[in-house]
Amino acid sequence: MNKDLLLELISALTILPGVGKKSAQRMALYLLDRNKDGANILANTLIDAVENIQRCETCRMLTSNKNCKICLDSSRNEKIVCVVENPSDVLAIESTGGFKGRYFVLLGRLSPIDGIGPEDLGINEMLNVIEKNSVNEVILATSSTVEGDATAIFIKDHVKNAKVSRISYGIPIGGELEYVDGTTIARAIQGRTEIDVD
Ligand code: ZN
Repeated sequence: MNKDLLLELISALTILPGVGKKSAQRMALYLLDRNKDGANILANTLIDAVENIQRCETCRMLTSNKNCKICLDSSRNEKIVCVVENPSDVLAIESTGGFKGRYFVLLGRLSPIDGIGPEDLGINEMLNVIEKNSVNEVILATSSTVEGDATAIFIKDHVKNAKVSRISYGIPIGGELEYVDGTTIARAIQGRTEIDVD
């Protein structure tokens, strides 16, 4: 039996978030029928990215090098670290252009029910970076969800010798950074408050 490559492409595209069968059909037909050059670029870039992008050894952001561009940028302030849940949060904050410190990407948040503990979030690695660079402020930008808050408090309890602040949220409960506009994120970082839980 001949395989139907068109159907295979459509079905492959539906793995993308927010892409249902109809959008996948539209994308597939566009790529094959109207923009073959674009399709080639997309295919090659995708293979290249999948093969070469991994986690930054320092902050766990996605990068094709050992360390990401942000960690290697000596004009940025290594004494301030912003802790986020996902690489998309880094992109969201970077798009505001207002933050000039470094990041640490947890790749999730504490969630005992799902079996996600501190070791999955690289919290020890993060504490090592904080100590090694004598970081003096840790800004917690985890989501304003129950788990995001629990993660923030856990980190606050384990950071020594640095101020720990939490970004203010003008953001709906459960809101995640990637869905928030740049101005709101910039204001949330500016309006951060020091956490005092003792
Ligand atoms: Zn990095």
